[in-house]
Amino acid sequence: EVPVICVDGPTASGKGTLTIEVARRLGYHYLDSGSLYRVTGIALRRAGLAPDAEHEARIAEIAHALPLCFSEGKVLLAGEDVSDAIRTEAAGMDASRVSTLPGVRTALVDLQRSFRKLPGLVADGRDMGTVIFPDAKLKVFLTASAEHRAERRHKQLISKGISTTLDSLRADLEARDLRDSSRSVAPLKPAQDARLLDNSHQTVEQSVGQVLHWWQE
Ligand code: C5P
Repeated sequence: EVPVICVDGPTASGKGTLTIEVARRLGYHYLDSGSLYRVTGIALRRAGLAPDAEHEARIAEIAHALPLCFSEGKVLLAGEDVSDAIRTEAAGMDASRVSTLPGVRTALVDLQRSFRKLPGLVADGRDMGTVIFPDAKLKVFLTASAEHRAERRHKQLISKGISTTLDSLRADLEARDLRDSSRSVAPLKPAQDARLLDNSHQTVEQSVGQVLHWWQE
């Protein structure tokens, strides 16, 4: 049985940073499941489609056959580096919209499970603990206040030279939270056996320490 740690939670709660660091410390593989929805969004735009329910079947086909490759921290779509393209706010919005389509979620299940390889996996997402790896030994549900999350995202974008306002970011992530938690398939919610971690007042080091402590319990 290959060990899995799930880290689920809302947008900009710091899941990525926490997951990467826990994976690094344990020498485990890392799955950024959101990137799969983001890449699907890019791929469907390139196919001339909008992320709408009327195109669900075709989008699901695209998601099922993504010519995707992760190499040296880069995401390649049909050989093209889309690492930056998938990180824009527009790509995040598209990802959030495609992720409400049940056919797309189903199309990405096997790909996500294929990341479960020895010596272990740390998986970041919304439904890692509830749908993709329900048998995981440790499930963490990470939260932070909307205010803290907007501030973090703001700093991140500013450091990349992208200008936005705190208010628009907060509105954007609250809209995404609402969509993620109210959709009918795999809504964002803690697994029944998840440990809740609110990192609003924690450093990354403290959150990492907490997760490793739970893992070693
Ligand atoms: O985590 P990230 O912001 O990259 O995810 C982009 C979008 O993909 C999220 O807003 C969410 O709607 C969706 N998503 C999902 N299930 C996952 C990961 C991401 O529905 N496991």
